[in-house]
Amino acid sequence: MKAEILSIGDELVHGATVDTNAAEIARALLRCDIEVERVSVVSDRFADITGAIRDAMSRCDLLMITGGLGPTQDDITRDGIAAALDLPLEMDAPTLERIEARFASLGRPMPESNRVQALVPRGGEAIDNDRGTAPGLWVETGSQCIVAMPGVPREMRHLLEDRVLPRLDRRQGSACCYHERLVHTFGHGESFIAEQVGDLFQRDGEVRVSITVRTGVTTLAVRSQGTKAVHVREAVDGLAELIVERLGKWVFGRDGASLEATVVGALKASGRTVATAESCTGGLLAELLTSIPGSSAAFEAGFITYANEAKTRQLGVPADLIAAHGAVSEPVAAAMAEGARRIAQADFGLGITGIAGPDGGTPEKPVGLIYVACADEEGVRVRECRFSGDRALNRQLAARTALDLLRRRLARESPSS
Ligand code: ATP
Ligand code: MG
Repeated sequence: MKAEILSIGDELVHGATVDTNAAEIARALLRCDIEVERVSVVSDRFADITGAIRDAMSRCDLLMITGGLGPTQDDITRDGIAAALDLPLEMDAPTLERIEARFASLGRPMPESNRVQALVPRGGEAIDNDRGTAPGLWVETGSQCIVAMPGVPREMRHLLEDRVLPRLDRRQGSACCYHERLVHTFGHGESFIAEQVGDLFQRDGEVRVSITVRTGVTTLAVRSQGTKAVHVREAVDGLAELIVERLGKWVFGRDGASLEATVVGALKASGRTVATAESCTGGLLAELLTSIPGSSAAFEAGFITYANEAKTRQLGVPADLIAAHGAVSEPVAAAMAEGARRIAQADFGLGITGIAGPDGGTPEKPVGLIYVACADEEGVRVRECRFSGDRALNRQLAARTALDLLRRRLARESPSS
């Protein structure tokens, strides 16, 4: 089934509102094995709306629309659908009653302007909305189907989850199957990853691979759809496993995995704990670790030591070490990690010190220079990083680099994990 999404609203076109509805709908449709092929955004102008609907209906089987179902002058989606399909709008008595009853329950008479919300293109149906006055619309013409939902995200979500998806699921039956696997890596960009595995991607084949990067995490998405569920699954899983094999130690997880959850899971599995010592990340690493439910079994303590004196007082970093090398240096990162480990009596210590920017850089120590250390019973390993993001990104990358150092340290012990 070819599906498209059309988001309607001036505010979306102008960028005042971000189109979150389309993203939510596209993700949700995948659960019904329906893959969206195109997302469009148009203004509240009648000609734009009818034009976009006609265009979409010349290509797809299912068109999901949001926005413009309200009672005001600028809400003309229902007129647009009727015009595009060349159908008259008819008053739907039960829907009008429901809208009136909704106002009555709020102790208010229904404004005349709300009557238009009970209009339905001939042959279509209104979809009850328990969270607002604007009902959705379900219009089938031949084998094609248009579903329109209100723009307000919580109303859209309610209609989608409670009314639309169950019906699409039944309509879809087992006609088509969609399957997706995600492979997450850390520390290498798109081009490097593509160099390693690009030859495995069949550009126009049935299985497609896309690469996305977010805060240092490079994710490969392997996707396919088809009519034979077994074949689709085999093809996707097979390619995903080939990619995992090829990328080896860079892969930290699959599908819903995150770096922090992977690290907490590995610590718990090995019955060990970590403590953190952070300078430029100001607690971000501790925040990531403690965002995972059950992290108390793995996280001992976090120190935020911004000032040099704090590094000395709280972590026992020798003052002359800082004087000799500077706070942003390999030996200080190592001493922070070792100090955190020792003082918190944890199995591992992670230390981060660096220059997040935008100020504070020098020719020898530029913005983005960050040292990340991982200490264990045998010693300490320090990674020198040179990030080129802004302050926020540099901090995110530093915290995640620390997680990745620990992940790889733990993975070396249990190659199976
Ligand atoms: P209403 O009955 O509230 O008028 P409606 O169907 O007419 O519902 P709109 O007027 O288009 O919806 O939008 C209502 C609210 O929902 C606005 O605040 C708008 O910014 C927001 N909204 C609309 N479309 C989207 C979208 N695609 N993603 C996120 N928010 C949206
Ligand atoms: Mg509106």
